[in-house]
Amino acid sequence: MTVKTRFAPSPTGYLHVGGARTALFSWLFARRHGGKFILRIEDTDLERSTQESVNAILEGMTWLGLEYDEGPFYQTHRFDRYNEVIDQLLEKGLAYRCDCSRERLEKLREEQMARKLKPRYDGHCRNRNVDPDKPHVVRFRNLDEGTVVFRDLVRGTIRVSNSELDDLIIRRSDGSPTYNLTVVVDDADMGITHVIRGDDHINNTPRQINLLQALGLPVPEYAHLPMILGPDGQRLSKRHGAVSVMQYMRDGFLPEALLNYLVRLGWSHGDQEIFSVDEMVELFDLSEVNRSPSTFNTEKLLWINQHYIKRLDPAHVARLLSPHMGDLDIDPAEGPDLVKVVEAQRERAQTLAELAAISAFYYRDFDDYDPKAAKKGLRPAALEPLKLAREKLAGLDEWRREEIHAVLQAVAKALEVGFGKVGMPLRVAVTGGSPSPDLDLTMEMVGRAACLRRIDRAIEYIENAVSG
Ligand code: GLU
Repeated sequence: MTVKTRFAPSPTGYLHVGGARTALFSWLFARRHGGKFILRIEDTDLERSTQESVNAILEGMTWLGLEYDEGPFYQTHRFDRYNEVIDQLLEKGLAYRCDCSRERLEKLREEQMARKLKPRYDGHCRNRNVDPDKPHVVRFRNLDEGTVVFRDLVRGTIRVSNSELDDLIIRRSDGSPTYNLTVVVDDADMGITHVIRGDDHINNTPRQINLLQALGLPVPEYAHLPMILGPDGQRLSKRHGAVSVMQYMRDGFLPEALLNYLVRLGWSHGDQEIFSVDEMVELFDLSEVNRSPSTFNTEKLLWINQHYIKRLDPAHVARLLSPHMGDLDIDPAEGPDLVKVVEAQRERAQTLAELAAISAFYYRDFDDYDPKAAKKGLRPAALEPLKLAREKLAGLDEWRREEIHAVLQAVAKALEVGFGKVGMPLRVAVTGGSPSPDLDLTMEMVGRAACLRRIDRAIEYIENAVSG
């Protein structure tokens, strides 16, 4: 049997981290077992589904690298097929038309509630032969007796008595099929062997199994993933901050980091925290998925992100960093090689947005000094070292870190001061106070013209402060 899994989002918003985690687990399971992974867009709710949201889902999947082998399939393109199946059920007497009014259903509900019973449809129309030309819905005739039993690959054996399940609407009065029917038809038609989804769907599973069995279709395996909670113990939502995958991209997270973080939300493999995608594919197993909910922890995500910024190939990080430089109106082609900047700065940032911000000074003059750095570095005592350094640097033959370093040492020696008395003011002059690596390297990368211009500016700044 070839494993086949699917991710089946409803396009009513962006791709949420919870959805991305479901997609990742389904993708990993398929990859792990040499199977196929498909993408199905469940867009039957015409009021709430939007093209924009479909695009956001596709974009998020691409960014995360969760490539699908088939699809995207759109449920709205398959209405004929769903209707064919509903008609078959009607013909076989496994479904029936119902024209119960809203008032009748409401009254029934109230009576059941008053008697402390679980509200459910009473089968009133089961044998009434409702006229197909009059407004009606179609209901599935659920079994009255027996129990639905399935072995959830995460939760273990689940039993639900048929007396708990009522006759589900499978076609609305406007002729559109409902969620449980479309999912069942699609999972069967698409040959899905393992349904991996959020546990908010666990109550639908027995209904779907009954429908599949009535249709004589194979029942897939099911795995329901535990919820993701915010730090306050409530289901993770917008209230807790960014939940959209693409927002994480814009905030400067690496896809490798988000995937690594998401795989650990509900799955573990010993104490290991860091997993490359290849490792995840090799090690992932549904039997190691936790039953209990996981809590989203932004600090940990930041830690993992920093890990990948530090460890991944600098050329790769530079490619991902480039758009963040663009967000600051910086064209990395107009300055030092961005790969070198990544190598120089990557220990100092938790996100690419942060890395871009602390690296802007390589490409353009900063607007203002960091006030603390200026207070410490740009004092009257710094004038002499700055002036002498400027003079000697202007005369250098080669603008390379070794030569720059030698000049700065010569300045300290000539003025009989420690290296810091020269280095500190220069660093503030050149970087504005941004975190930066060794001064000679920083200056080499910033370039001679910009360094001299910025030293002049610092000299002027101190002189104005003194006179003003
Ligand atoms: N479309 C459903 C949702 O977005 C998922 C259905 C399923 O996985 O069976 O929640």
